[in-house]
Amino acid sequence: PVSLMWFRNDLRVKDNPALNAACDEGKIIPIYIYDTAAPDDSKPGGASAWWLHQSLTSLDERLNGHLQIFKGDAATLIPQLLEKFDVERVFWNRCYEPWPIKRDKQLKQQLKEQDIQVKSFNASLLWEPANIQTQSGGPYKVFTPYYKKGCLNQPEPRYPKAPPARITYADVPDKGDGLAALELMPAINWYADIEKEWRPGEEGAADRLSEFLSDAADHYDEERDIPSVAGTSKLSPHLHWGEISPNQIWYAVKGKYGDQENKDIETFLSELGWREFSYYMLYHFPHIVDENFKEKFNHFNWRYSKNELKAWQEGKTGIPIVDAGMRQLWQKGWMHNRVRMIVGSFLVKNLLMHWNQGEQWFWDCLVDADLASNTAGWQWVAGSGADASPYFRVFNPVLQGERFDKAGDYVREFCPELKDMPDKHLHKPWEAPKEVLRQAGVSLGDNYPEPLVDLKQSRQRALDAFDQIKGK
Ligand code: FAD
Repeated sequence: PVSLMWFRNDLRVKDNPALNAACDEGKIIPIYIYDTAAPDDSKPGGASAWWLHQSLTSLDERLNGHLQIFKGDAATLIPQLLEKFDVERVFWNRCYEPWPIKRDKQLKQQLKEQDIQVKSFNASLLWEPANIQTQSGGPYKVFTPYYKKGCLNQPEPRYPKAPPARITYADVPDKGDGLAALELMPAINWYADIEKEWRPGEEGAADRLSEFLSDAADHYDEERDIPSVAGTSKLSPHLHWGEISPNQIWYAVKGKYGDQENKDIETFLSELGWREFSYYMLYHFPHIVDENFKEKFNHFNWRYSKNELKAWQEGKTGIPIVDAGMRQLWQKGWMHNRVRMIVGSFLVKNLLMHWNQGEQWFWDCLVDADLASNTAGWQWVAGSGADASPYFRVFNPVLQGERFDKAGDYVREFCPELKDMPDKHLHKPWEAPKEVLRQAGVSLGDNYPEPLVDLKQSRQRALDAFDQIKGK
């Protein structure tokens, strides 16, 4: 029998449960569909589209050129393909975002009615969201009990599977629409720096994991907050596209460190736990994609200023650590987690703009743009999420810069116009004496912006505004 193997966010051959199961049954036809029926929040943004193009190229190579790529409405395409190829079974790995869940449920039902066998698997999460519940039976809403009581008390996550011993491809009459038809590559080459930084695909993911384990994992707890240091794994885009599974990471880490107590490793694994929690929340509370988890934030009167938003997006706010972060995002398609929190707090609190604005910009610019983690990250920053930073906590970007980018290497890398500023004034050039600015070649309002807002006043404005929804 021939099976259709529908690749989605699982662009890998190793530890791919659906692929293994399909191969166990006999010949396969591997396909990928760019689903045109998806809403915008389920279609890749600019940087992710670039990534997807590379990742599909890499997967096709791993499948010896047998991947068939289509563009269209998956819910109508799949039944057509089954008929065209005379196939009676379909295998896929589950997606956990609201829209694909709905699509897959309907499709599964429809196919079952036509006597088509559908088999779906979990390939992207360590713990099934539906299986983790509080003692009283509802979903957790706070990370620590979710992770410690809910997840870590479960049996150990599934051990990664070896790749199929043999993949046999069915002969098919023609070759899909092809990768070029997806038009994922941008017309203008803005991705030169992104291309240098990343190697999309399963092999790139495996190499990234090995590098992390040999170079950074031992210092993770200490160095993961320092943006100038390569102290984190940078596995996020690979995880998003399923080029590596969290199970492979989990067991690679355990394989190296065993079960001995190790703060670095516990912290790193708990970050994978945060990823799980983001999916868990989205699974149980699908409305949080565009609505506040804490409803009182629905009454909040956000500001909107096109110019201020543009200054933030372009890294021209005049606040060095914020600008460095936003420029890193634009150049590399990625931003350090600590800085994501700082730029987020600045947008939502100092500028008082809706977190949706930041979320959408991130969606377009991040190579790791992920509906679950991005939504969770932004609602955390805004204070409107389940287990979020309190709304009255406004990061002071100067103190954050001085603490986490002490020597200023990060700011100097991404804001080269400030490279000659002495450490003392680097994170607050507007307070530097004229002579210091002159010597460093910095002219505020000329080659580096004046601060967009006064940090003290805008902090107070945020506190006053958030106070109004306090009791609601
Ligand atoms: P590491 O520190 O090496 O962590 C390992 C893995 O754990 C990551 O690859 C990621 O999958 C997961 N992880 C780590 N921190 C978090 C977290 N706070 N929440 C959820 N998962 C986490 N992450 C995304 O993958 N996609 C997004 O679109 C995204 N948007 C964010 C928006 C905001 C405003 C904030 C504050 C955070 C966002 N994050 C997002 C979470 C986090 O910043 C990134 O996952 C992390 O920076 C990725 O780098 P890394 O792979 O080196 O992480």
